[in-house]
Amino acid sequence: MTVCYLGLGSNLGDRAQNLERARVELEAHGARILRQSSVHETEPFGVRAQPWFLNQVLEVDWPGTPRALLTTAQAVEAAVGRTESFRWGPREIDVDILLFGDLVVSEEDLTIPHAGLAEREFVLAPLHELRPDILAS
Ligand code: AMP
Repeated sequence: MTVCYLGLGSNLGDRAQNLERARVELEAHGARILRQSSVHETEPFGVRAQPWFLNQVLEVDWPGTPRALLTTAQAVEAAVGRTESFRWGPREIDVDILLFGDLVVSEEDLTIPHAGLAEREFVLAPLHELRPDILAS
């Protein structure tokens, strides 16, 4: 088991329900939710002319590999009804792997810690609720 942090985001449809469905789907795929941050409403990043997001960070216990967690994140996005969007565009649900234990992964389609982590307040604020220590520097 590895303790991982996942970032959820939604700005289309019933945003709170999309987060809830993502949590249910993640558990159905074997991720055990240990703790969850409060839900933050945040201004869109990048492309600003779109609805505001709800963001939340989950602390999960994951039994498999980082690659399997990425596959699961994508399956959860599909299950919650994510349609194709453009970069930084609106979405029913986004599931990002923020941290995977203390592992560093640098592959073409998988970067851990998540590449946007350091500069994205909408992820840092909810992550800070759960892990104030790792953001202390
Ligand atoms: P997004 O549009 O934010 O869902 O980005 C999805 C793409 O980011 C996927 O094709 C993933 O392969 C890639 N990706 C790279 N690193 C990560 C990560 N740590 N968590 C989730 N997706 C990642």
